Amino acid sequence: MAGFCLSKKDPTPQNAIAAVDGNICRCTGYKSIERAAIRVANLLEERNDEDPATFAVKQAILPPYFATIRERLHLLSISLNGELTNERPGAQRVGGGTDVYVQKHDEIKDASIQFLFDTAGLKGIEQAGNQCLIGPSTTVTDLMESSVMKTYFPDFKSYTKLVSSTPIRNMATIGGNFINASPIGDFTIFFLALDATLTFSDGNLSREVLLRDLYKGYKTLDKRQEDYLEQIRFDLPDKNTRFNFEKVSKRTHLDIASVNSAIRIAVQDDVITNVRLAAGGIAPIPKQLTKTAEFLTGKLVTEELIREAVAIAQTEIAPISDARGTEAYKRLLLSQLIKAHFIKLFPKLKVEQLIS
Ligand SMILES: Cc1cc2nc3c(=O)[nH]c(=O)nc-3n(C[C@H](O)[C@H](O)[C@H](O)COP(=O)(O)OP(=O)(O)OC[C@H]3O[C@@H](n4cnc5c(N)ncnc54)[C@H](O)[C@@H]3O)c2cc1C
Repeated sequence: MAGFCLSKKDPTPQNAIAAVDGNICRCTGYKSIERAAIRVANLLEERNDEDPATFAVKQAILPPYFATIRERLHLLSISLNGELTNERPGAQRVGGGTDVYVQKHDEIKDASIQFLFDTAGLKGIEQAGNQCLIGPSTTVTDLMESSVMKTYFPDFKSYTKLVSSTPIRNMATIGGNFINASPIGDFTIFFLALDATLTFSDGNLSREVLLRDLYKGYKTLDKRQEDYLEQIRFDLPDKNTRFNFEKVSKRTHLDIASVNSAIRIAVQDDVITNVRLAAGGIAPIPKQLTKTAEFLTGKLVTEELIREAVAIAQTEIAPISDARGTEAYKRLLLSQLIKAHFIKLFPKLKVEQLIS
């Protein structure tokens, strides 16, 4: 809520409540929190163009030390981040920390840490010709607010609403999503379908790796310890290219995927000219389904073709039964998600023929 007061977001009750979504309350109950959020939003209405921190302090919404918070955080970030060099060999790199501090808390709480979250040069989203360049410390929220992503992926906001919660999205970086190598990382699957290229650097030399070649086995990467991710880039979809992302989890929101999938498909006169299909939760690594994509390429989009593609996809996966579902369930989910991609992207298809 303090973050909301310091942001320049419209002070509507809806935005104030959205700012704290994903927080679980075990003591006071949600209605009183909602009422407090609405009251804060109402107080902020008078702010107009005044600096958010100054206004919130003047109105006693935030304690007085927030008036100088910007400078204080800046000084702190200089002392923590410094320049991005490898002067601290072996230091644990941390993006937003939403994964590493959960998975390895005891191991790293006293370790030497290199924070990348605010490191200059590792943030930002820009368009360069037909390509999009993304800094690995870009957060999910940055992506949601990016005009490039909004323009080229009109449904981007609805995809990202399926990913964690606002507080996590404000911290979770795209680089962290790739490097934690979770087989169900939502952005890993998203960018696998875009066939993204990654640039790694060891501080001196850079090298490029396709995201699809990064994962060698469960949580094993084609990356040396000293390499940090410097940039992500991908070709923006052209007018013949369609894109879709699907995710199924036990709960629609605030949950990780049982299976997720994304597709980028280029079509000319209903013939598929190029396709990348990615899926998570169906193998030890996030995967591009290359055989299925190869089968689809050069063919006319029909219900029969999709049924055959679904059968081929089943030969490329090796899901395991775990807390997210049984092997059989995950196989079924992948089939359904592939059909869902085509139903969404090719509205002329006869749904009843696909699902029978
Ligand atoms: C409550 C909760 C809900 C979540 N829900 C989802 C969800 O719905 N979908 C999903 O995909 N994930 C989810 N996650 C997992 C996590 O938030 C994401 O994977 C996130 O993108 C990780 O990014 P981060 O910056 O926090 O990574 P960090 O924890 O900072 O780092 C993860 C790994 O990446 C490395 N790393 C980070 N940046 C770089 C870099 N530039 N170069 C080299 N190495 C780097 C770190 O060293 C570490 O090994 C959730 C996590 C929590 C706590």
